[in-house]
Amino acid sequence: MSHPNETLRDIYDEVLRRNAGEAEFHQAALEVLESLETVVTKHPEYTDSQVIRRLVEPERQIIFRVPWVDDRGVVQVNRGFRVQYSSALGPFKGGIRFHPSVNLGIVKFLGFEQIFKNSLTGLPIGGGKGGSDFDPKGRSTGEVMRFCQSFMTELHRHLGEYTDVPAGDIGVGGREIGYLFGQYKRITNRYESGVFTGKGLSWGGSRVRTEATGYGTVYFVDEMLKVRGESFDGKRVLVSGSGNVAIYAIEKVHQLGGIVIGCSDSGGYVHDEAGIDVELLKEVKDVRRGRISEYADLRPSASFVAQGSLWDLPCDIALPCATQNELDGDHAATLIRGGVSIVAEGANMPCTRVALQAFAEAGVRCAPGKAANAGGVATSALEMQQNAARDSWSFEHTEERLEEIMRGIHDRCLSTADEYGLPGNYAAGANIAGFIKVADAMLALGVI
Ligand code: GLU
Repeated sequence: MSHPNETLRDIYDEVLRRNAGEAEFHQAALEVLESLETVVTKHPEYTDSQVIRRLVEPERQIIFRVPWVDDRGVVQVNRGFRVQYSSALGPFKGGIRFHPSVNLGIVKFLGFEQIFKNSLTGLPIGGGKGGSDFDPKGRSTGEVMRFCQSFMTELHRHLGEYTDVPAGDIGVGGREIGYLFGQYKRITNRYESGVFTGKGLSWGGSRVRTEATGYGTVYFVDEMLKVRGESFDGKRVLVSGSGNVAIYAIEKVHQLGGIVIGCSDSGGYVHDEAGIDVELLKEVKDVRRGRISEYADLRPSASFVAQGSLWDLPCDIALPCATQNELDGDHAATLIRGGVSIVAEGANMPCTRVALQAFAEAGVRCAPGKAANAGGVATSALEMQQNAARDSWSFEHTEERLEEIMRGIHDRCLSTADEYGLPGNYAAGANIAGFIKVADAMLALGVI
């Protein structure tokens, strides 16, 4: 830690010792603890009552076997996780990720970040995350369904609209949520819409939920531009990834007058000076479930680069929307040389610590994922509101609410950073504002 406060240093040492080998979780915890130095000086009650020490320890961690039978009749065994991190502000809330890289440390880092993100939305949701090392790539729809059913057969007993409300994340979209919710409904014999978000429109979902994370990130950046008297007009933008977050970030950048000249997947990146054709991208990724190279095959103005990094392209704004630690120190140096002035994290923790430091030193404004990608979970909370009221809002009304929430989060980050003597530091503002709301609720609820 940079200027260690003794108690925070002790807490961090304990995190390292008690969660050995969980590098991403250590990284996420350190990033928050560092921001809290000025807070604990002003408010010793948070350290006296051990709020921080309690907060770094999840309320409950569930790990379970997920056996299923593949299309060849072979039995497969995966591991399932749900980390119910904090329910101080509401039921545990956070996505489920299916990806071979998923392990306890990854789920804990995501669950920990989710606490502060959800707090920042201003809505009554606690923090949690789940997932499995199941790799959906190359699996048939039948295999995905059987896996989801097995996963939910175990997890259902830990969920509930007032207990824990999962949603999607990497590898879990509308199709998977359908199978998960279907199995939950069957086992519990309850049509409990509020137990899941990201549902389809005909079975309790909310309009704008699919678009929300990407749209929200771009609204956040629009606000960052506005405080400097700028706009998206003519700005060259890079968006890494080509999943749900990336696709709708690209769509919104174009709506606001910017131009996205590149996006990527794990196989490489496409460069398209004419601006990414979002409808074609949706067709390739959503409908065909194909690779980004196919986009370049179908689009004359685009080229596909199998080696190298998307961040090699010069841009004004970079939106990492793929996965954790995708943007490292070297990428940051290249982006800075290319003239980047804003970086906003559409994914969770996509920038390494070295990258963030390089951006800070170069005066690049950085929006942390906790704030910039909070639009997804905020719209999940709006979905819960609609479910509770047995209501269904229009696209316009829901998008208006999302926009308002994102602009509110932006302002809260800046005003909190100012209040704690760190003007312009979005990351510190997000961590402090997110923390204080949870910490005050924990103080009020007693030692539980
Ligand atoms: N997985 C998303 C996130 O990282 C959404 C979570 C949710 O809607 O509950 O915030």
